[in-house]
Amino acid sequence: MNILLFVIIFLYTTNWVRVLLLKDLFNRSNNKKLFSKFNNEKYLAKVNKKAKLKFDIRVQESPAIYGYMAGLPIAPFMVVSSGAIKQLSLNELEWIVLHEVGHCVMWHVAKNALGQALFLIGGIVLLVFLKLNIIFIPVYAVLLGIVWYQIERVFELNADKFSLARIDDPRGMITANQKMKAKGKSIFYKNLLLGKLFTPHLSYDERIEMAKLKL
Ligand SMILES: [Zn+2]
Repeated sequence: MNILLFVIIFLYTTNWVRVLLLKDLFNRSNNKKLFSKFNNEKYLAKVNKKAKLKFDIRVQESPAIYGYMAGLPIAPFMVVSSGAIKQLSLNELEWIVLHEVGHCVMWHVAKNALGQALFLIGGIVLLVFLKLNIIFIPVYAVLLGIVWYQIERVFELNADKFSLARIDDPRGMITANQKMKAKGKSIFYKNLLLGKLFTPHLSYDERIEMAKLKL
């Protein structure tokens, strides 16, 4: 029971953003397809060439601005929200797309799964060893989740660096993050401390400062 509770709380803490994305995907109206096609072939060819990776872009219906990459380098699966396509210029979109390519070519999906699995096993061993009472399990699981995010932040930093090294114009990274900051509603992305504790990402301002160094 303790172990099951630990596994559920740890995985939810470390994957709540992914859970929301999945919910978003299945909340769409019944007759719509999961993803629509990104129809700027010329742009797609350009970013494929730049990324040295053959991938397609699928569009997920959502007013929010985001992208994610679910696949491995052998089978890239890139998704961008319709909100990103509507609200961002092509140069701004390039920052998101190249960031996701960075995750893909650096095997972050696999490293993430492996890292979380190691944390789960280590966490279970330690909680059995410490004979933790069930009332402490939630705090223990959340604390381990927070530690995990500090490791996952290295992946995010490397994806941002990957994107910035290849983007046509670093100003795209700056204005994209300004737009995301202005639009973002989640307290976990608005509050700096909560962002550090419960998300793997760099803050909007940190990314903006990073891009400014390249101007
Ligand atoms: Zn990322």
